[in-house]
Amino acid sequence: MSFPYEAPVSQSLFDRASAVTPGGVNSPVRAFRAVGGTPRFMVSGTGPYLTDADGREYVDLVCSWGPMILGHAHPEVIAAVQEAVGRGTSFGTPGAGEVELAEEIVARIEPVEQVRLVSSGTEATMSAIRLARGFTGRPKVIKFAGCYHGHVDALLAAAGSGVATLGLPDTPGVTGAQAGDTIVLPYNDLAAVREAFAAHPGEIACVITEAAPGNMGVVPPLPGFNQGLKDLCAGDGALYISDEVMTGFRVSKAGWYGIDGVRPDLMTFGKVMGGGFPAAAFGGRADVMAHLAPAGPVYQAGTLSGNPIATAAGVTQLRLLDDAAYAKVDAVSAQVRGLVTDALAKEGVAHRVQAAGNMFTVFFTDAEVTDYDAAKAQESFRFTAFFHSMLSQGVYLPPSAFESWFLSTAHDAAAVERIAAALPAAARAAAAATA
Ligand code: PLP
Repeated sequence: MSFPYEAPVSQSLFDRASAVTPGGVNSPVRAFRAVGGTPRFMVSGTGPYLTDADGREYVDLVCSWGPMILGHAHPEVIAAVQEAVGRGTSFGTPGAGEVELAEEIVARIEPVEQVRLVSSGTEATMSAIRLARGFTGRPKVIKFAGCYHGHVDALLAAAGSGVATLGLPDTPGVTGAQAGDTIVLPYNDLAAVREAFAAHPGEIACVITEAAPGNMGVVPPLPGFNQGLKDLCAGDGALYISDEVMTGFRVSKAGWYGIDGVRPDLMTFGKVMGGGFPAAAFGGRADVMAHLAPAGPVYQAGTLSGNPIATAAGVTQLRLLDDAAYAKVDAVSAQVRGLVTDALAKEGVAHRVQAAGNMFTVFFTDAEVTDYDAAKAQESFRFTAFFHSMLSQGVYLPPSAFESWFLSTAHDAAAVERIAAALPAAARAAAAATA
C-alpha cells in the first residue's frame, strides 16, 4: 500500500539504523514489517502522548508494550529516578530498593512467597523453567502455540506452525536438543494437555502459560482453563507457571491472578513492575524458590539484577497503582473499545474486540478467537489499512494485528477525543482494504 504522509527524519534515522543494526531495530516488531512504512523514531513522551523525530504528536496506545501504565514521564516516577541516579547507578551489591520492590510484589500477589529480580521478562521465564526442571528433576515443558514467553531457546518452539507442534525449533539457531523437550499444544485445549501428561508420565517439569495471552492478540483463557492446568500439574507433580510479564500489575493490583484466583506454583513478571526500566522477576512457592542459588543448587545470576534506578522507578510506579488507578485504566479501556466497535460496525467491518481486563485487541473477524489458528484466520490486511489511517491522524497503535493495545491513567478525555476523531476514517479504510 502507499503511505500518503511522510516522516523524513524518522526515515533518515531508520536508514542510518539499518546500516548498523539488523533490520534497523533492536526488537523486531518495532520495524513495522507487518504493516509496512517508516517506523517512527520517538524522541519524547508526556502523559498519553509520544512525539516523533519529525515533531508529530501521537496518542500512544502501545505504552511501551505495557509498562507505561501511568503514562509517559509521570512526575513522581521521574523524580524517584532522578533522586536514585544522584546516588549512583549500579553497585553490584544488595540494596534497599530491591528489598522494597520484592516486598511490594510479595505483598500484592499472595502466591508469591519469595521473588528473584532479573532484568527482562525473557530472563524471568528462562530462569523459572530452569528452576522447575531443577526442582522436579524432570526435562519436559508444555507451552501453548501463540503464547510468547520471551526469546528463550526452549520456548521459541512456539509460533503455532506445523514444525512447532512437533516441538522442533521455530527459528534458526535453536537446536533440536534445546527445543526437543518442549511440547507445544493448542491454547485453550485442556484435552490436549491431559493427553500430553498421559503420554509422558513423570517427565513433565512444568506447564507455562500466559496468564491471559496477549501475544497472539488478546485471547483470554476459557472458563476453567487455567484451573484445569493447575489441577493437571498438581495431579502429576509438575509445576504450573503463570507468565504475568504482560498482565502482572497491569490488569489489576495482583495481575491476572487478581482476576481468576488460580494459584500458580511459579509466576513471572516484567513490564509494569519496572516503571519503564529493565526490571523483571520470577517468584512463587518458597519451597521451590529455596532451590535457587545461593540458597539452593539451581544457578541464576545477573550483574544488573535489582538495579537501583530500575527498582526506584518500579517501586514508585507500583505504589501509585492503587484501586483508583486501575479503575481509571479499566474505564478508559472500555470507552476506547466501545468507540472502536461503533466505528467499525458503522462501516460494516467484520471485527471482534477481545479483552483481558484493560488489555484488548481488535481482531478483524466475526468469529470468537480462542487460539492461535483462529487469530491467524483474521483479515489482517484490514488492520494494516486501519493502522496507517490512525497513524496518519496521530494515533499510534501497535504495528501488528497480533498485539494488545495498552492504555494508561494518563489517557484523559482529550486523548480519547483524538482517538474518536480518527476512528471514522480508519474504519472506512479498513472497509475499503483488499487482501
Ligand atoms: N512473557 C510475556 C507474556 C511477554 O509478553 C514478554 C514480552 O513481551 C516476555 C515474556 C518477554 O519479556 P522481555 O521482552 O522483557 O524479555
